[in-house]
Amino acid sequence: MRHGHWIGGRAEEPANRSYLPTLDPATGLPGDEVAAGSAPDVDRAVAAAEGAWREWSRRSAADRSEALHRVADAMAAHADALIDLERACTGKVPAQLRLEVDMSVSYFRYYAGILRAHHGRTVDQGAGHHTYTRLEPYGVVAVITPWNLPLNQACRASAPALAAGNAVVAKPSELTSASTLMLARLATESGLLDGLLNVVTGTGLDVGTPLAVHPDVRRIAFTGSVVTGRHLATIAADRIVPATLELGGKSPLLVFADADLDRAVAAAVSAVTANAGQVCSATTRLLVEAPVHDEVVARVVEALELLKPGVDFGPMITEAQYRKVLDHFATAGAVPVTGGTAYDDLPGLYVRPTVYAGVDPRLRIAREEVFGPVLVTLPFTGEAEALALANDTEYGLVAAVWSGDIARALRLAERIEAGQIAVNGGALGIETPFGGFKQSGYGREKGIEALHEYARTKTVSLSLH
Ligand code: NAD
Repeated sequence: MRHGHWIGGRAEEPANRSYLPTLDPATGLPGDEVAAGSAPDVDRAVAAAEGAWREWSRRSAADRSEALHRVADAMAAHADALIDLERACTGKVPAQLRLEVDMSVSYFRYYAGILRAHHGRTVDQGAGHHTYTRLEPYGVVAVITPWNLPLNQACRASAPALAAGNAVVAKPSELTSASTLMLARLATESGLLDGLLNVVTGTGLDVGTPLAVHPDVRRIAFTGSVVTGRHLATIAADRIVPATLELGGKSPLLVFADADLDRAVAAAVSAVTANAGQVCSATTRLLVEAPVHDEVVARVVEALELLKPGVDFGPMITEAQYRKVLDHFATAGAVPVTGGTAYDDLPGLYVRPTVYAGVDPRLRIAREEVFGPVLVTLPFTGEAEALALANDTEYGLVAAVWSGDIARALRLAERIEAGQIAVNGGALGIETPFGGFKQSGYGREKGIEALHEYARTKTVSLSLH
């Protein structure tokens, strides 16, 4: 099947009439084709968005809320079709797909709800003045997303951007565009104003950059690699438009000897299995207090060796990512205690869950984001060394701390340089603001913070004299 763009409430052919192939990474078979967009397609989509956002932003909060609830309803009603599309180009296992699609629906429900409580305020300047603020949209927001959680990331940025009164032009990864296109179609069919949610597919160079430099794009929301984030941040700085950058991570999971080891081991296993480790917030540096290090590693390895590819975890989603993980294995400079190879007997892009135990923290495998089912472990002695190792990274997206000493865990939570810290499995969801410190990026998604990201504050002051 061939997918065109979604522009102004309808499917549109690419200007150059070219399409790009996709691949089912679970089988290695070719998948659907998506439009190979280019600058003229971007121009059409931005024009459609520019023509739509003012009318949208003038509607009452109640109206906008109802419209976004209807988008959520349409997504929920077509969840199975969204799952099928997402599976075809990512090979994800069913539980992971269900989780991601349910969460995608929830982004629309959550922002449809809280937008009704998103107001300016009055500012008391004394008698004779009436001063207030208005929260106004930027206009056209570019949403550029990667391939690892395609629909989820598109919704994570688009729902708050729309809720705040903006229009969106989304540019998904050319390898995983189908679910984002279906989101836009469902949004239109559910009554969302034409032009409010557009999708232009294609490569970063042919669509992403023309979108970011477009003079009518007033804000950029980017999720992806540090290299592309830096490129887009440079464009944003040059154009003086704000950007949100959700980039990579090499996040620590700290386990003290007094922790509930059963739950800590389960958390370490799920860092590897959830989306086969292709999650920016995966806690792939397992830091364990020395007396229990070997026991924790043995239990994690035992659990990982029971897992079945295609059942408990999916493949690498792209061929490039598959090759990148195998290159990490070849150059690790350490011998894994489990894994370290691909499943050569399977047709898809599967690699074995892998653990490098007690590694030298200076090794590339211990410092770079692998973005695959790969853990490194490091033993530590005492709180100070745990903290130093946790912060010994250029990244700062998330961290997890497991300890029976809550005061110690919270002391560490205060000092670890990361945007989200889960203590003893603390829940993190749509309500909890998410975003990086250091090279993991800036700006916040999720929570009410994301609504603020997509609104500009205007002050109006009236003299009563
Ligand atoms: P990527 O940066 O290569 O691509 C991301 C998006 O940017 C894609 O749509 C791509 O087409 C586009 N793009 C690429 N080059 C571009 C250019 N020159 N100009 C404009 N757009 C361009 O990243 P990826 O390989 O698709 O994704 C993996 C990375 O994403 C990992 O590093 C991962 O950590 C990160 N990630 C971060 C988060 C987060 O929320 N922090 C979530 C998921 C993934």
